[in-house]
Amino acid sequence: MAGRTSTFAGAIGAAVLAAAIGGGAALAQQGFGDPKLSEANLKQVAAHTYVIMGFPNVAFIVGDKAVLVVDTGLGDSNGALLAKVAHKLGYKGQKLILTTTHFHPEHAAGQGGFPAGVQVIRPRVQQEEMDQDGKAIMDAFARAEAMKPFMQDAALVKADTLFDRERDLDLGGVRARLLWYGAAHTRGMLMQLLRSRG
Ligand SMILES: [Zn+2]
Repeated sequence: MAGRTSTFAGAIGAAVLAAAIGGGAALAQQGFGDPKLSEANLKQVAAHTYVIMGFPNVAFIVGDKAVLVVDTGLGDSNGALLAKVAHKLGYKGQKLILTTTHFHPEHAAGQGGFPAGVQVIRPRVQQEEMDQDGKAIMDAFARAEAMKPFMQDAALVKADTLFDRERDLDLGGVRARLLWYGAAHTRGMLMQLLRSRG
């Protein structure tokens, strides 16, 4: 079946997505931005794909059966905002799935803002890295002035589902393949490959 394929993931994908919308926002993500994410920065970048540009860039892949959110934002207030946007985009009451590109707090420490019932999936290596190094980076973020307000309720939480190298998700009308290719920005860096029926 013919389909359209696009890839993105964290640092790598930020560049791809920024290129897709003709912006240079990926560069902004290299440094520390304002952790407060805003729905005003939501853009559609492909048939099933939306992104909120910010710190970090967060993607939503919307299928008929499920909505996949890629990254949590920092702290529960950002996580709750992303869950609200996911709910709006998937207005048919689809299942909510969350994955994280890597274990750094702005990407993974807003999970508590998502509703009960969200299914969290990440590579096993990323989970191990989180278990091992998560506390140190959470402590470092807690010392940074700009991060402090978001760290009150921030937490790194274990995933429900772990995979080794790849996991194919049928979201309904669009498939997302989660891939762990090996160490990049972090050891557990995740890449997503999307294929929609076209
Ligand atoms: Zn990072």
